Amino acid sequence: MEKIKYFLNPMARLGYPYYSILVPVVGTVIACILLETVAFSVQNQTVSGITVIFASIALVLYFTFRDGTKGGFVTIVILVAYYFYIVYTRQEMSQWESSFQTIFILTAAYLLIASLIGWLKQTLDLLIIKEKLSTQMAEEEKLRFKSIIQQLPVAVRVANIAENKVEGNKKLEQLLKRKINHSFAKEVEYMASRTYKNGKKFSVEDLSLLKAIKKGKKILSEEVEFIRDDKKRLFLSVSSTPIYNSKKQITSVVSTFYDVTPEREYQQRKDNFINMASHELKTPITSMNLYLDLLLKKVKKTNNSTLLTPLLNVRSQTQRLQELVSDLLDVSRIQTGKLRVKKQEFLLNELVREVCDLFQQTRKDKKIIIKNSKPIVVVADRFRIYQVLTNLLTNAIKYSHKGSEIIVREKVTNGSALISVQDFGIGIAEDERKKIFDLLYQANDTKERTFPGLGMGLYISKEIIKKHRGKIWADGKKGKGSTFYFTIPLK
Ligand code: ADP
Repeated sequence: MEKIKYFLNPMARLGYPYYSILVPVVGTVIACILLETVAFSVQNQTVSGITVIFASIALVLYFTFRDGTKGGFVTIVILVAYYFYIVYTRQEMSQWESSFQTIFILTAAYLLIASLIGWLKQTLDLLIIKEKLSTQMAEEEKLRFKSIIQQLPVAVRVANIAENKVEGNKKLEQLLKRKINHSFAKEVEYMASRTYKNGKKFSVEDLSLLKAIKKGKKILSEEVEFIRDDKKRLFLSVSSTPIYNSKKQITSVVSTFYDVTPEREYQQRKDNFINMASHELKTPITSMNLYLDLLLKKVKKTNNSTLLTPLLNVRSQTQRLQELVSDLLDVSRIQTGKLRVKKQEFLLNELVREVCDLFQQTRKDKKIIIKNSKPIVVVADRFRIYQVLTNLLTNAIKYSHKGSEIIVREKVTNGSALISVQDFGIGIAEDERKKIFDLLYQANDTKERTFPGLGMGLYISKEIIKKHRGKIWADGKKGKGSTFYFTIPLK
C-alpha cells in the first residue's frame, strides 16, 4: 500500500529525482483510451471536448509534477497526437483549419504549464536534496565527534544545553564508575551533591560547568574532591569550555576530568611528613638549647675559654637548626591552611629600626641604612612582619658582598605602607623574580650555590604578606643587586 501511495503521490517523490518517461507515456495513453470511451458514451461534442481539455490539463500538471519537464512534454506529445486523431476521425475537412489553430494554442498553453511546473519541481527537488545532504553531513559530523570523544584517553563530558542532554565518554564512566547519560538538571544535582572543596560541600554555582556558562569562557583546571558511589574519594582537575553557535549563544559545554588523586595523596603524605618531622624535631632542639644555655652559664662562670668557644659554636648551630624547624612548621601550616595572623596596632618604623639594629649588631661587615623613617601605624601581626623583615635582611646580607650597604626605605603610598630592602649583591635574573617566591625555589646557578638555604623564607614571607592583603615583589638587575618590596594596607 505504502509503495502504491509513493508511486502515485507526486509530493512523496519530491527530493528523489528519479524521473520516468515510461509512466507518463503509459498513463497518458490509458487516459486517452478512457477519454475515447467517455466521448463515445456521451455523444455530445461540447461536453466531451471540455472533458478532454480539463483532463489534458490535469494530466500535464500531474506528470510534470511527477516526472519533471520531460514527463510533461511526453504527455503533451501524446495528447496532441490524440487531438489530431479526434479531428481526423470526427470533423469535416472544412473545420480542420480552425481545429488545428485550437490545437496549436492548447499545445502552447500546455508547454507553458509544463515548463513552469517542471522548473518549480526541479527547484524544489534541488532544495530538498541540499537540505537532506546538509542534515546528513551534520549527522555524520556529530557521529564522528561522538566517536572521537568516546575514544579519547581523557575523561570528557559533553553537556548539550539545547537538547538538555549530558553524556560522558567511556573514560569518564570508568573514572566515576557511573553511566553519564541524563538531563542537565540531573547532572548539576549529581555533581553538586558529590563535590567538595577543602572538605566543604560545593554549592551549585561553584560547579565548573555552571561557571563556564555564567562567565561565558573557559574555566581552567579547577581542583575538587569528588566522592564516588563506592565512597572512594577522588581528586579531580576539571576544565570546562563553552561552545557557541553562530548566534553567539552557548549550546553546550565540554568538560575534561583529570584524576590527580595519586599526586594529591603523595602531596598529602609529604605534607604530613613535614608536619610530623618538624614537630618531632622541635622538642629535642628546644631542650638542647635549654641545656646549652645552662652549660654556657656555668662555663662563663669558670672562665674556661677552651670550652666556651666550642660551646658557643654548638649554640649557634642549634639556633640555626631551630630556625629551620620553625620554617618547616610554617610551611606545614601554610600548606594545611593553618597559618594564622594575630593583628594588633603598632609602629612599623619602630619594628624596622629594631630588626635593623639587631642585624647591625651581629653583622659588622655590612652597613644597614634606614632612609625616610617616619611614624607609620599599621594593624598587623607584629611577629609575622618581624619574620618577613628578618628574612629579607638575612637574604640581603647573604647575597651581597662584604662591606656593601643595605638600604631599607619606608613610605606610605596608595593607602599602604611600603617597605623596601635594597642590596648591591648578586641580583636576580628577570625571569626568576617571580619564581623565587615559590616553595624550595633557589634562583642561583650551581656556581653561585655556595649560599646556605632551602628556599623556604620568601615562600613563607609571601604567604604572610598575602594574609595581610598586601603584596611582595622583587626588582633589580643581575650582578647589580636586588630590591625587595612589600606593602601592608593601612585599613
Ligand atoms: P633561601 O635564601 O633559604 O635559599 P629564600 O626563599 O629566602 O630561600 O630565597 C629564595 C631564593 O631567592 C634564594 O635561593 C636566592 O636564589 C634568591 N634570593 C633571595 N633574596 C635574594 C637577594 N637579596 N639577592 C639575590 N638573590 C636572592
